[in-house]
Amino acid sequence: MMLSCKQTARLLSQGEDRELGFSERVALRVHLAICKGCRNVNAQFKFLRAAVKSLSLDENEEKPA
Ligand SMILES: [Zn+2]
Repeated sequence: MMLSCKQTARLLSQGEDRELGFSERVALRVHLAICKGCRNVNAQFKFLRAAVKSLSLDENEEKPA
């Protein structure tokens, strides 16, 4: 199964909301291995996810325990 860049972007974005299936993760990895553009998109997703995570962590710390 070969993904298009469009399908890859969709899986990357879905991966934010749900656990991807095994075949989806494999297809994603294969595409990322051959496609520099989607590797950049993936890096941006990772960066955003880390940024959002650290933001929500800060928010939690401000709440009284
Ligand atoms: Zn691609």
